[in-house]
Amino acid sequence: TSFGFRNVEPGEKQPLVNEVFHRVAKRYDLMNDLMSAGLHRLWKDAMVAWLNPRPNPIWRSLDVAGGTGDIAFRIVEASRRQAHATVLDINGSMLEVGKARAAKKGLSANVDFVEASAEELPFDDGTFDAYTIAFGIRNVPDINLALREAHRVLKPGGRFLCLEFSEVDMPLLDKAYEAWSFKAIPEIGKVVTGDRDSYAYLVESIRKFPNQPNFAAMIGRAGFERVTFRNYSGGIAALHSGWKL
Ligand code: SAM
Repeated sequence: TSFGFRNVEPGEKQPLVNEVFHRVAKRYDLMNDLMSAGLHRLWKDAMVAWLNPRPNPIWRSLDVAGGTGDIAFRIVEASRRQAHATVLDINGSMLEVGKARAAKKGLSANVDFVEASAEELPFDDGTFDAYTIAFGIRNVPDINLALREAHRVLKPGGRFLCLEFSEVDMPLLDKAYEAWSFKAIPEIGKVVTGDRDSYAYLVESIRKFPNQPNFAAMIGRAGFERVTFRNYSGGIAALHSGWKL
């Protein structure tokens, strides 16, 4: 397993990841806007549009590695404030920011927060209609285990959607993107959060993540069917979809 530029033992990765998000939690939302020049908002909107949440109080969704709540809030809004969303994250500092944001938006009744790992979901088999994870799965030490857990907690007919940084497939964009991510992002991270290394880790973890077809194959091996993906912004981000049938 790797943590940024270093190779670490499998059990070592999670505490290091936790430290990163504990340190950046308070500035996390601001950093997302700066790092992606606001693009993460469009990608997240597109993700929830593809999911098309039902305006139905019994429709349940689980947003894993949900952090400060961006996906869960969008799901609830898209369901005309009818659906229920659970935000699950391993990091209490990120969830605290999420809870405060939910209260501010008046969404506390529709959203609940659970501190747990994507590798061991504290839910029965077949609980959810949808499982979402945005910019989270590359932080999880055992991705295949997380995918099998996703499959387990979904109802038959349930939908899996994963938004993640991916492989840029445009000749000039890839060079610009590399310069931006390796040089600019750690520096912005240093100015905004005082923490250059956390952002250097995040950039390196993006480079190590499997590309679109390889990740699609992993999702299939976890038991999902009709696996497809679409690229955003030339592949800077990709959205993978699968169904539990
Ligand atoms: N989904 C949010 C978004 O798109 O803004 C937050 C993404 S943030 C880059 C990654 C999140 O993954 C962090 O909140 C971190 O605590 C969480 N995380 C890392 N390892 C995890 C694990 N094993 N299980 C659940 N969440 C985890």
